[in-house]
Amino acid sequence: MIPKLIDIHSHINFNAFKNDGPDVIKRTLDAGVWMILVGSQIDTSRRAVMYAEKYPAGVYAAIGLHPIHLFEGHFDAAEAEQKAGVPSYDTRPEVFDYNAYKELALHPKTAAIGECGLDYYRVMEHGTHSMEQVKKMQADTFRQQVSLAREVKKPLMIHCRNAYEDLLQILREEHGEEIGGDIHFFAGSWNIAKQFLDLGFYLSFTGVITFARDYDEVLRNAPLDRIMVETDAPYVTPVPHRGKRNEPLYVEFVARKIAEIKNLPEEEVFRQLAENARLLFTHDIENSKE
Ligand SMILES: [Zn+2]
Repeated sequence: MIPKLIDIHSHINFNAFKNDGPDVIKRTLDAGVWMILVGSQIDTSRRAVMYAEKYPAGVYAAIGLHPIHLFEGHFDAAEAEQKAGVPSYDTRPEVFDYNAYKELALHPKTAAIGECGLDYYRVMEHGTHSMEQVKKMQADTFRQQVSLAREVKKPLMIHCRNAYEDLLQILREEHGEEIGGDIHFFAGSWNIAKQFLDLGFYLSFTGVITFARDYDEVLRNAPLDRIMVETDAPYVTPVPHRGKRNEPLYVEFVARKIAEIKNLPEEEVFRQLAENARLLFTHDIENSKE
């Protein structure tokens, strides 16, 4: 079976979908759209794997520790421009437990390691930690997850905010080109994009491209066979559903916008985007099935 599209990054495993996760997944699969559910801590990573286990095809997990979860903090839903359906929450600090994540990484339905990476957007001085110490902890934790990806031979699902240069440097030092992966929610310049593409990484785009024009240049320049689409649900809902909780089904609006920006037929764009995601993330899993 070939999917119409794959939403390569959503969070049905988060509390925003606590009451209706299975319904949301069902209507997504019914529309021929597959999805990768992404963890950001050990418990949400476990929940991603639990969901993926329940479906014979079309639902996969990514497991990892997000850089903002290394410290206590507060996530403000209003800051993410989403008023409906996304609760604010406090984050608990977590230390990366290699063996616990390795167990999840080895699961046959786990498609990627992450989201992991660097996030300097919310870097503040955390108690006794200086900014430099926070950055170093993020880098160390990211390097461990790159090692895990290498060990289990699965690609990286990378989160990077205001830290592209440092992340590129780590990927070069760790030979990221041997592992591969996707830079989720890519928001950099074409100059940065080129460097990731040269390293063999893919770039993925969210619903933001339906209402902000900052991404058009990168989208026009990046080859169609090196980009992917995602919703990052429950966040960043695309037009025409702004103000509502986002969900994987809406990945279609992101793909359509890409066809419009690249001035290509929708059918061709959908087919290639789905193929890219299968090649990087789900192809081996599909093939290992009896
Ligand atoms: Zn995410």
